[in-house]
Amino acid sequence: MAVQVPTQMATGVSAAEREWYQMPASAALAALDVGVDGLIGVQVRERLAKHGPNELTDRGAKAPLAILWEQVTSVMVLILIAAAALSLFLGKYPEAAAIFAIVILFAILGFIQEYRAERAIAALKKLAVPDVRVRRDGAVVQIPARDLVPGDIVSIEAGNIVPADLRLIEAANLRIQEAALTGESEPVEKDTEAIPLPDVGLGDRLNIGYMGTVVSYGRGAGVVIATGMQTELGKVAALIQDAPAEMTPLQHRLDTVGKQLALAGVAVALLIMVIGYFSGETFSELILTAIGVAVAVIPEGLPAVVTFTLALGAQRMLRRNALIRKLPAVETLGSVTVICSDKTGTLTENRMTVTVVDVAGHRLDLIERLHGRSPAIQPQDVHPDLVDGPMPIPLLLAAGALANDATVQRDHEAGRFHTLGDPTEGALIVAAMQGGMTKADLEAAMPRVAELPFDSDRKRMTTVHARPTGALPMPLLNVWGSKGFAPDAPYVSITKGAVDGMLDLTASVWQGSDITPLDAELRARVLAANETMARNGMRVLAVAFRPLTEPTADASVEADLILLGLVGMIDPSRPEVRAAVEKCRSAGIRPVMITGDHPLTASYIARDLGIAQNDRVLTGADLVRMSDADLAQAVDDVSVFARVSPEHKLRIVGALQAKGNIVAMTGDGVNDAPALKRADIGVAMGITGTDVSKEAADMVLRDDNFATIVAAVEEGRVIYDNLRRFLQFATAGNLGKILIMLVWPLVLYLTGLKFIDPTALLPLQLLWLNLMTDGILGMSMGFEKAEQGVMSRSPHSPSSGIFSGGVGVQILWIGALIGVLGLGVGFFYAQAGLPQWQTMIFISIAFMQVFQALGTRSSIQSLFQIGVFSNPVMWAAIGLVLALTLVVLAFPSIGQSLLGLTPLAPGDYGVALGLGVILFVAIEVEKAMRRRRAGERR
Ligand code: ATP
Repeated sequence: MAVQVPTQMATGVSAAEREWYQMPASAALAALDVGVDGLIGVQVRERLAKHGPNELTDRGAKAPLAILWEQVTSVMVLILIAAAALSLFLGKYPEAAAIFAIVILFAILGFIQEYRAERAIAALKKLAVPDVRVRRDGAVVQIPARDLVPGDIVSIEAGNIVPADLRLIEAANLRIQEAALTGESEPVEKDTEAIPLPDVGLGDRLNIGYMGTVVSYGRGAGVVIATGMQTELGKVAALIQDAPAEMTPLQHRLDTVGKQLALAGVAVALLIMVIGYFSGETFSELILTAIGVAVAVIPEGLPAVVTFTLALGAQRMLRRNALIRKLPAVETLGSVTVICSDKTGTLTENRMTVTVVDVAGHRLDLIERLHGRSPAIQPQDVHPDLVDGPMPIPLLLAAGALANDATVQRDHEAGRFHTLGDPTEGALIVAAMQGGMTKADLEAAMPRVAELPFDSDRKRMTTVHARPTGALPMPLLNVWGSKGFAPDAPYVSITKGAVDGMLDLTASVWQGSDITPLDAELRARVLAANETMARNGMRVLAVAFRPLTEPTADASVEADLILLGLVGMIDPSRPEVRAAVEKCRSAGIRPVMITGDHPLTASYIARDLGIAQNDRVLTGADLVRMSDADLAQAVDDVSVFARVSPEHKLRIVGALQAKGNIVAMTGDGVNDAPALKRADIGVAMGITGTDVSKEAADMVLRDDNFATIVAAVEEGRVIYDNLRRFLQFATAGNLGKILIMLVWPLVLYLTGLKFIDPTALLPLQLLWLNLMTDGILGMSMGFEKAEQGVMSRSPHSPSSGIFSGGVGVQILWIGALIGVLGLGVGFFYAQAGLPQWQTMIFISIAFMQVFQALGTRSSIQSLFQIGVFSNPVMWAAIGLVLALTLVVLAFPSIGQSLLGLTPLAPGDYGVALGLGVILFVAIEVEKAMRRRRAGERR
């Protein structure tokens, strides 16, 4: 049939005459100039150049102006602006200008940090873009979705997000949930039939798959008709707005603390004015002091430093293969108490190898002992026992390769084979090859006509095939080809899946030449074989068949099955997981295995890895019987959940959370998405995970590895520690400054030095100090590496405050000491009649805070234990702070006229340095005392 297709159609723009949905699939392929082998290299390059990458223009990130607006309308900035306005009102123009300048500086600093964090997260999200399977140059290849061009033939299956607009050319039970586009949450059953009607709405175009919609069931293939912004999704841009950025729990709390501090600053300032009023100060002096106090209290650098530290953390996690999708996860990871992990692929390598085949009366061990390592079987190594074994064995292998969606490819360079698709199925194809059969030959003899895809609730799948006719390439298929067997059944269905579920659907057993009813004895034998294999850590699948009269596959097909036999396969545990599990334990985190596999298989692996500390296993069936309260009781000491379905995961997370746990939960399937969302940290698999699970997750493991979760938790703890240390540092410093501001007038009053200025530090000097310390030094604290023992203490409880665990007390005494030393030096110089008393308070605080930062680098170890130079960024920050401070002092135009500083003599610097050293020694002595006490307790 010749279809007249206008040329612009091939560009992915809908044709005026005929829409894609109106054309038969073959016409669509012809219009896009693509054959069954897919596009060829030249076409791909041309089309990519013409249409650009298949991506939506990013509208998700927060607009720069919005970020800026947030910055300038924060409580802190507003108070500073008020202070500047007051100074202006009092005619203190330089002060007003300088405060404004600093407000702008902080706003810019905050803006840059926030903007960079946004960009970093946006970049991380880009990394999470899925890969797709396309047919190009006659081969199936995996490419990033952004490289798709119109004309590409794409395979899709349950769990995929449709990567571009597709005209479907193949659909097997394909259901697509199109809520993203049509708002309809019920999945739509798709097919490939042309719809010869005009003006069919998007929701009714059953042969089109739209970008951004979700394949919820089945599988199919389609040819790309539009990419990127030309897709239907691209046209409705508003729908792709990302969820607003969330604040981390700590950010929330810090935000509150920040606001409280700011308001406290205002309160104290008012108090000063009242006191001053009664002691006869002039109004403008009072206001100036009050502004100074307010400025001193406000932790200007706080928001910028927190965002910066979190974004830095996300980057560090990425280096360890953990991709953070939501910033709050960085912090929450640090308080995780339970990690619930899938088994297959996360704890194990997901490199399945068939090691046992078991048919009625015969069991064949392909490998004697594995010792947890994967055997190096090559598919080309044909196994004589498989080829010449009793008849049921080759038939079992053939069936396993037919009810199968994986493919095997020969890697020509390496001369080896590798499988694409589900490793469980890959193993079956390899086993068939070892029995002398290729999947291609089998499929040619018995083409698939219908199917019921695998899902992890049923734990099985069925394919329906035409019975072979004519000359058979493989004599074994005679069983299915022979007219003597079920003569009026032109089709045969093959079902494979979990043994326990399938036995209930099985009526008889294939014995090699005849069919025997499945009696109690045979049943017991099959179950015993299943258990023996599972107890040795094997995944066991049953394979069965059934003659059919109709080429359809509905649920009724999975009944009256004829069992062919069992296949046992080994999936070795990942070698690095054992150490990671041990690390979890010492860190007070409990690893829990949740798997769809058999309880005995699960137990074996759990024991092997040290996850299970007792023999208790709960199955999905147990969970159904238990109430939520019983489950909450049980989760405390059950570490293995087997034969569970995705919806059980949701209940397990709930039960663990009800017990006060912070739960990280892994998941890879479509149905895992709710559990991933419910968990405190939803973890998706980067390699084997479905697109849907990745969308729902907070974190994606680029290597699917359990050990990576543990590494991310470790980084989370480091980041939390760093933030807490910064907070302790900044708050203690600000406390010191407030004390100086408040007590200074009192000192003067009590010592009779009434002629001296009652303002200990000018607002601008305070702002400068805060910029140097809370800003520059604070930022460098985010680069601190893991403290010794981060993973040998319990997780911090998110409900305990940031100031718990002695931090509050440290803030008080360090703040007091800074205050006393600052007041002391001021008084000493003032009573000696030296004009530089104020500058001395200023420079002493600067030096003290530099030493305070060094002393705070570890909360328990001494600076010398962690290595004086082990945080080079902090040394750079210290260098910058000292250089800038000395520069303002050295230039009278800045130091004197703007900041109101007085030149110092070399000896004065010595005094300030001395005070810094005193503070440092005090901090180190206190840490030494705590170390001693901790040692005694042990
Ligand atoms: P997890 O990854 O959560 O540890 P799992 O991957 O073993 O678990 P599922 O993939 O849901 O869990 O598999 C559950 C069970 O379904 C398996 O134990 C197996 O019996 C059966 N099964 C798995 N894959 C297939 C398949 N491709 N075809 C038929 N049955 C399968």
